[in-house]
Amino acid sequence: VITIAEIETGSQAEQVGLLPGDKIVSINGETIRDRLDYEFFRTEPSLEVSTLRDGEEMQFQIEREYGTNLGIEPEVMKIHICKNNCVFCFVYQNPKGMRKSLYVKDEDYRYSFLDGHFTTLSNMEQADWDRVLEQNLSPLYISVQATEPELRARLLGNDSLEPIMERLKWLQEHNIDFHTQLVVIPEWNDREHLTRSMEDLLTFYPSLQSISVVPIGLTKKRDKLPDLRSFTQEDAEDALSRVNNCINKCKEEWGENLVYAGDEMYVIAKADLPPPEFYGDYSQYENGVGTLTALWDDFQRELVQLPMARDGWEITVLTGKTASCMQRDILEILAEEKNVKYELLICENHTFGEMVTVTGLLCGDDFRQALKRSEGKGPVLIPPNSLNNNNQFLDDLTPKDLEEEFGRKIIAPNSFREYCTEVS
Ligand code: SF4
Repeated sequence: VITIAEIETGSQAEQVGLLPGDKIVSINGETIRDRLDYEFFRTEPSLEVSTLRDGEEMQFQIEREYGTNLGIEPEVMKIHICKNNCVFCFVYQNPKGMRKSLYVKDEDYRYSFLDGHFTTLSNMEQADWDRVLEQNLSPLYISVQATEPELRARLLGNDSLEPIMERLKWLQEHNIDFHTQLVVIPEWNDREHLTRSMEDLLTFYPSLQSISVVPIGLTKKRDKLPDLRSFTQEDAEDALSRVNNCINKCKEEWGENLVYAGDEMYVIAKADLPPPEFYGDYSQYENGVGTLTALWDDFQRELVQLPMARDGWEITVLTGKTASCMQRDILEILAEEKNVKYELLICENHTFGEMVTVTGLLCGDDFRQALKRSEGKGPVLIPPNSLNNNNQFLDDLTPKDLEEEFGRKIIAPNSFREYCTEVS
């Protein structure tokens, strides 16, 4: 049974009389356990929806109009909790006072299929595997970290893992595709272990859709956690050269690439970012793979159409260290060609620690500290990936809180077109 959280105004669901709070028991006689079942069974052209409203059974008949959304927003699915104890788990590295969901060790194959969340597959029962096949949950997003069983067990802090290679083989045999990630920690699963993992994974082509290789993120809160170190430039150079060798093999063998290093790896190695065509359909964009290239590409396309900035127009741009070089290049071009006056402030991550340099982990308080240094008076641009869908930073502050405190407009542009609109 799932509860309807919202009904879209004017939708078919509203027209037939469904209401928020109604509980969907079955669709066409199939029991609905959760949002995944709902997504699976709602695609039929004709739907008989059985519900409970205040304990009373009700039926609704919907003939789906092609290409339209039913207009039902189900409640958030209760997430499964992981059984691992990863040496790099971010949940343990969170400081106090963050958004509640950041303290949840979530691991759920259903969200892997629905929303592209990575899962180690460690908490799945036979019934879950049966469901993967029944509902053809393909592709899945799988956190591998290492293909060697003992090494993976050490990394994930879990002795009862099944061998990942056997499970991937099983998925391949049942036509379930998968994207994979390798979170790499210096002196744990880097160097020859990294090469071995990538080569092992490539044996699953074409079920294997992609491999991302991302450097470990460490925060300052590591008490009682294993002693790990961050990537140095030399570590990143080594990882990139191994990734590049695999890329060359992929291209030789299949004429396409499947292996991608995270943007941060290029930044740490001080290496040039690949061009847009390298990333294909940007299948691991949400994982920090290709985001900088996409931003630059977006900028190049929009630049031609961008009007000159109004006289006296000034912006303050806040960003993290990883994206700062590209932001500076963009702003310099805007200053030269479009008369934009700007102030660029690189935000230190006081909340998680200075080793954390990506924009997605900057908190409201980090932006606040940076704004105290600002000498500008105009609008402030912040990275959109620092906000969740409810427009909150990780520490639950909001842009509005900062607007009130500093008396300046705060903007999180989602595309370069929006960014350009703000600066012109
Ligand atoms: S899988 Fe590992 S990193 Fe993810 S929540 Fe579990 S312990 Fe933490």
